Amino acid sequence: MFTVRTRSSGSPARTGTLRLTHGDVRTPAFVPLATKGVVKTLEPHEVAGLGYELIFANTFHLLLAPGPELVARFGGLHGLMRWDRPIVTDSGGFQVFSMGHGNVADEVKGRGQRAGREREGAILAIEEEGVRFRSYVDGRERFLSPEGSMEVQAALGSDIALVFDECTPFHATREYTARSTERTHRWLRRCLSWHARHGPEGQVVYGIVQGGVEQDLRRESAQTVAASACDGIAIGGSLGADKAQMREVVAWATTELDRRAPARPRHLLGIGEVDDLIAGVELGIDTFDCAMPTRLGRHGVALVPDPLARWRVDLTKASWRNSVDPILDGCPCPACAHGYSRAYLHHLLRAGELTALRLVTLHNLGFVARLMEDLRAGIDAGRLEEVASALRAGGAPGATSCTAG
Ligand SMILES: [Zn+2]
Repeated sequence: MFTVRTRSSGSPARTGTLRLTHGDVRTPAFVPLATKGVVKTLEPHEVAGLGYELIFANTFHLLLAPGPELVARFGGLHGLMRWDRPIVTDSGGFQVFSMGHGNVADEVKGRGQRAGREREGAILAIEEEGVRFRSYVDGRERFLSPEGSMEVQAALGSDIALVFDECTPFHATREYTARSTERTHRWLRRCLSWHARHGPEGQVVYGIVQGGVEQDLRRESAQTVAASACDGIAIGGSLGADKAQMREVVAWATTELDRRAPARPRHLLGIGEVDDLIAGVELGIDTFDCAMPTRLGRHGVALVPDPLARWRVDLTKASWRNSVDPILDGCPCPACAHGYSRAYLHHLLRAGELTALRLVTLHNLGFVARLMEDLRAGIDAGRLEEVASALRAGGAPGATSCTAG
């Protein structure tokens, strides 16, 4: 289901194609989140129009509402949401464990546990059999096991299912991380065994590498997952306290995977900032998912080629009140190509107009799609290093030498 097209000579980076039931996905690729069965604020044809071939839906949220029985009645998530390209679903493990441990993504970014409705659920017990938790939707007690997660993902009908794992937090002790990683490996075997007997035809399964920030545990986990019969491999869990540590932890895993499972696709869970995508591609990651481009869009923050500002501009700031400029000159996205000024977007954001959230989301996803296109073109042309340094220096995606022709 995965073919490598070009291997980069100077790094483990590669381009390839995932051949899935609902179509092909060119890699490396960013995968937008469709958490509850929608890429927030957009319709599926708009997401496809930006060039996206794969979206990422969350089993945990869809299990609680509208529920797998309803989704199955519509022929799965594809039929319910009217998206005909591939879908990857996670196992629900990340969200279940985030309720108990705090959100790993928040930790990586140095934030505390966020308040909010989706944090109001609670883990009641983590057992060998699975996890008991309280639903944030209706307060009911629920149970999710490895087999249960695979069963829900079968009902959702995703092209790629992820195995159920425990997402260990950064602050966990080495002993806890070691025990938890071993349990995750036992859960991997249970997921694969359930899927071999009951999984829907055409659905592939990714195992997940855990092990926290302990080098030996990460490497052992990568070896264990590579030795299993999974079709692809995701890297999950806490990747460290900062970006430098994250790259080191990812490299431990990808080095092992390069040795032991070079032909299988690799997904990096929950990572998607511009510099992290570039670094991830250089480390040999094939796909990434992250809330960042869509979440920032809904907060009025647009992606721009400005590394000193972390590739961001906050359009809610008063400094844009009179700006006639678009978000980004020459950007082909609907927000920029139609000539909407920063002043207009600023006004809409301040007025709470929903159209602004859509426009900035379209711009951000368009920006990331072109970034990935540049990286793919760079690898294929044998010029990844050049393309990556141009992007890191503030080159606009889509304007680097390989794609600008
Ligand atoms: Zn734009």
